[in-house]
Amino acid sequence: MDVRINDVLAMKKKHPCGSDEMLVLRSGMDFRLKCRGCGHEFLVPRSKIEKNIKKILRDDNGNS
Ligand SMILES: [Zn+2]
Repeated sequence: MDVRINDVLAMKKKHPCGSDEMLVLRSGMDFRLKCRGCGHEFLVPRSKIEKNIKKILRDDNGNS
């Protein structure tokens, strides 16, 4: 799965705060994600994330 920095991942499993959207801050073997609901940041192994992604929300229009 092609996940890039600044992508927003819609997750199958919601964060305890109720949000299911995570912003990708860093990719690689481990992903650094930021919850869009509460702003919590965490590091998760790629294998775990890929199983949990429902959809990638990417804004291809903004090039800023
Ligand atoms: Zn959260």
